[in-house]
Amino acid sequence: MNTIDYSGTQVIPSKVVCVGRNYADHAKELGNNVPTEPVIFMKPNSAVSDVLSSFHHEPLHYETELSFLIRGGKIAGVGLGLDLTKRQLQTQLKAGALPWERAKAFDGSAVFSAFVELSVAIDSLNFTLTVDGELLQKGSVQQMLFLPHDLVAHINTFSTLNDNDIVMTGTPEGVGELKSGAHYNVTLYAGDVSVLSHCWRAM
Ligand code: ZN
Repeated sequence: MNTIDYSGTQVIPSKVVCVGRNYADHAKELGNNVPTEPVIFMKPNSAVSDVLSSFHHEPLHYETELSFLIRGGKIAGVGLGLDLTKRQLQTQLKAGALPWERAKAFDGSAVFSAFVELSVAIDSLNFTLTVDGELLQKGSVQQMLFLPHDLVAHINTFSTLNDNDIVMTGTPEGVGELKSGAHYNVTLYAGDVSVLSHCWRAM
């Protein structure tokens, strides 16, 4: 089973639950309507990776997302994740009203920083993605259509969140195609204080 680092310990998420279209500007960027209830999909443990790949049968796109680790059905830890997407395939699947798993749940499609215990006010959390030093994504809890605690409560109504499961809370605008050899740096802030950061070189 694949693991993630939570405060220096390797833990096994059984699943990653993802939220789509949780930022109005990103929904518009992809030509989607702003939803009235959360759009939910899942990635299995086999999707979890710490390696950032730019290609898997087709070029992959990044989506940087504030991510939470669950203990006792509630938010315990926080980290940053990249929800890797086969955008071309996803567009075809959407057009056919088909499930997204082939475009969203493939091996290596859930890439995470380490997680730390959440010890700051959740609504102060915000993050950035820079690619080779250029700021490409910037998101915050303040911009979310559905807030983290509400998302977790909503997911628990139909799918039990086990200890160490991860909830990815959607991406702000600025998504794009991964470039092999480029450096992707994510930083999590509480207000303007840096909480954690991680850099991957895309394969
Ligand atoms: Zn996403």
